[in-house]
Amino acid sequence: MMNNESKSIHEFDFELICEYYSGLERQGPGSPEVTIKALSFMDNLTNESKIADIGCGTGGQTMVIADHASGHITGIDLFPAFIDLFNMNSRKLNLQDRVNGVVGSMDNLPFQNEELDLIWSEGAIYNIGFERGMNEWRRFLKPGAFIAVSEASWFTEERPLEIDKFWKDEYPGIDIISNKVAQMQTAGYIPMATFVLPENCWTEHFYAPQVPAQEKFLEKYAGNKAAEELVENQRHEAELYHKYKAFYGYVFYIGKKM
Ligand code: SAH
Repeated sequence: MMNNESKSIHEFDFELICEYYSGLERQGPGSPEVTIKALSFMDNLTNESKIADIGCGTGGQTMVIADHASGHITGIDLFPAFIDLFNMNSRKLNLQDRVNGVVGSMDNLPFQNEELDLIWSEGAIYNIGFERGMNEWRRFLKPGAFIAVSEASWFTEERPLEIDKFWKDEYPGIDIISNKVAQMQTAGYIPMATFVLPENCWTEHFYAPQVPAQEKFLEKYAGNKAAEELVENQRHEAELYHKYKAFYGYVFYIGKKM
């Protein structure tokens, strides 16, 4: 990295986080199988369809959507480094005419009212909160169009204190599935489906690839405190998952605009 001295600690941490995640195919729990399963609920897509993948990261799930659905996909992510990788992946797969990534924020989306046939967002809506995203993104959808998002959710009404506290610090919007469905309904969607992501979305597709990535990262940044802390946090999160996976997980929420 260039010019570290002139950067604030915050900026440096931020770049480290981007670099850490850039090396991974996914930036959140999920799998191609789960993306395809969620896609199987869409019955409205044609070659003319317009799809937005919000918080697309480097595009792991986007390329799966492109492979299994027709239409044009715009990937949106706040981080330019992720969008660069996204567009490289799209070209590599010869999808550049149908799949293109742009830098942007989910609280200021570059779409017209009623322009989209589908809004997709895996493991990203928490950045503005599920309820806010459901409400604010709705106007971009055509009547009868779909929204499909995955989101951390509680499986039980009560949880051990340690994991309850961890999530309340990370994402206070985490809630039980029935409350999320009610939020979706109130925002003006027909709840079409919800399903819990299988454990391998966390273990095989999210945490396992991080193990070798962490070792390389620690070698490269030996002695760097921010890098060590980042890896420590990721390891702690993975341990908590193994300990408390009976109480929470990722859930796909699929709705249709009324
Ligand atoms: N969908 C990908 C990435 C999930 S990680 C996957 O499932 O692998 C969450 C993503 O949201 C990150 O790529 C992060 O850069 C992006 N993000 C965070 N805040 C954002 C915002 N305000 N607008 C758009 N994207 C944002």
